[in-house]
Amino acid sequence: MKPEIEHILKDHKLRNTDCRYDVLDVFLTQKFALSHGDLEESLGNKFDRVTVYRTLKTFLEKGIIHKVLNDEGTPKYAVCSSHCEVHEHHHNHVHFKCDTCGHTQCLDEVAIPSIQLPNGFKAKEFNLLIQGLCKSCQIA
Ligand SMILES: [Zn+2]
Ligand SMILES: [Zn+2]
Ligand SMILES: [Zn+2]
Repeated sequence: MKPEIEHILKDHKLRNTDCRYDVLDVFLTQKFALSHGDLEESLGNKFDRVTVYRTLKTFLEKGIIHKVLNDEGTPKYAVCSSHCEVHEHHHNHVHFKCDTCGHTQCLDEVAIPSIQLPNGFKAKEFNLLIQGLCKSCQIA
């Protein structure tokens, strides 16, 4: 048992189940955003689809993970680094997808610039996905 994972679950008043623990473990080990399929691949056949799906939903609602825009249609998820609350996420950062390795990561230090919307429009959520070449692929 990793104390870090137990802490996160406890902080969010979630019971420590095998699936929650393992899903969080995958998220913390991989430094990039993961889709449901990526998770299933890492977890193997240990849990059924519905259990994994429900775990993701719970984590989203509790502010443990956030949705990441993905150009492939299926959503990806990444761990929230700032203090997100139940049903309320507080981040406005850019996501970067590398064309070479295909990984999407949070660029927490890069804020999405404020965008002026026409009268009558109210923004609820900002998503900005930048595609290109990531740091590790440039070195290799
Ligand atoms: Zn969040
Ligand atoms: Zn890359
Ligand atoms: Zn992010």
